[in-house]
Amino acid sequence: MDFHLDEDQIAVAEAVAGVCAKFPGRYWQELEETGAYPEEFVRTLTDLGWLSILIPEEYGGGGRGITEAAIVLEEIHRSGANANACHAQMYTMGTVLRHGSREQKDRYLPEIAAGRLRLQAFGITEPDAGIDTTRIQTRAERDGDRYIINGQKTFISRIEYSDLMLLLARTTPLGEGAPPAEGLSVFLVDLRDAGDAVQFSRIPVMFNHHTYQVFINDLEVPVENRVGEEGRGLRYIIDGWNAERILIASEAIGDGRFFTEKAASYATSRVVFGKPIASNQGVQFPIAEAYAAVQAAGLMRFKAATLFDSGAPCGAESNMAKLLASKASWQAANAALTAFGGNGFAREFDVERKFRETKLLEIAPVSNNLVLSYVGQRVLGMPKSY
Ligand SMILES: Cc1cc2nc3c(=O)[nH]c(=O)nc-3n(C[C@H](O)[C@H](O)[C@H](O)COP(=O)(O)OP(=O)(O)OC[C@H]3O[C@@H](n4cnc5c(N)ncnc54)[C@H](O)[C@@H]3O)c2cc1C
Repeated sequence: MDFHLDEDQIAVAEAVAGVCAKFPGRYWQELEETGAYPEEFVRTLTDLGWLSILIPEEYGGGGRGITEAAIVLEEIHRSGANANACHAQMYTMGTVLRHGSREQKDRYLPEIAAGRLRLQAFGITEPDAGIDTTRIQTRAERDGDRYIINGQKTFISRIEYSDLMLLLARTTPLGEGAPPAEGLSVFLVDLRDAGDAVQFSRIPVMFNHHTYQVFINDLEVPVENRVGEEGRGLRYIIDGWNAERILIASEAIGDGRFFTEKAASYATSRVVFGKPIASNQGVQFPIAEAYAAVQAAGLMRFKAATLFDSGAPCGAESNMAKLLASKASWQAANAALTAFGGNGFAREFDVERKFRETKLLEIAPVSNNLVLSYVGQRVLGMPKSY
């Protein structure tokens, strides 16, 4: 990594920025008023191939690395948009590309790349398990050439707008021989065939997001839709986590750039006491400090992405990038809201919307406490805290 994007990567950033410019703040504000899904935005990104950038070219995807995927998500967020409505198609690739069978890839990836199928739902979290994924209870029981799945999931985003869901379920009940991290399996659930066996209800949250309680009753999934070996599912999900952390960090970095650019511009043009408010150090320095934090997080993110794309271990860097970026973005959000004063609370400036949106990145898809545990225990060798 030489700290510069190459020509090709700059072209990716510029192209995505150009697309996002067609979806200005007003578009997102109107969606929020009705709680609607950003269908046109997702359709446009899909048709242009940005959401399938990680799918190999042989399946019709972009065939690019995590670095380019990171650039795509950063630009989406820097523009003031939000990739929450569609980013899971990138997250899920970590598991599907590495552990999916040839037959699964042949069946689904060309359809996803062509925009005819959406793999936008990722079903891990359960109400009684929290961040301790080994405690999930959704049960998949083998019955001949299929599994029968029963259970409940929570905060499963986009399921209403997805054709496929990557689902983690227990194939061996907890306490029946296998260690807690074993006995879990991953399934590619075709929601189009699920009928009443999968029901969901939306959970209203603090920004316009489509996330759901999901109830699974006697869902039949063919054995050929199990990803990899039975019982090794958590390992496959964990394999995708480094990619997910790099992608989340990139969204936070994009948000951080949005806040600092917007705050610097506003504070330079807003005149109070006869001079721009930005000429006061009390206004200028928090924005400058947040900018420095965002830039530093960006370097760690690119280091992690470069290692990931070269196949080198990158757990420490991916986790640290996610931690630093989500904190930097939250710092930038606060600096921006403060610099905007009363206007920070007014819908038309988009700062309050992005403020609410970016907070999520400290908590989901993984909370920063768990990231700190990783760094403390796996990198620094301190005792396990849970
Ligand atoms: C808007 C939104 C969208 C989401 N989308 C999805 C999705 O699509 N698919 C999906 O599977 N999940 C999704 N989630 C769930 C998300 O991944 C979890 O909310 C997140 O991982 C935290 O888990 P929890 O809410 O159960 O928190 P809990 O496990 O209840 O933890 C609560 C707090 O306690 C802290 N904590 C718990 N144990 C410890 C410990 N030992 N040491 C230190 N701190 C600890 C946590 O860090 C956290 O801050 C979504 C959540 C939200 C809010």
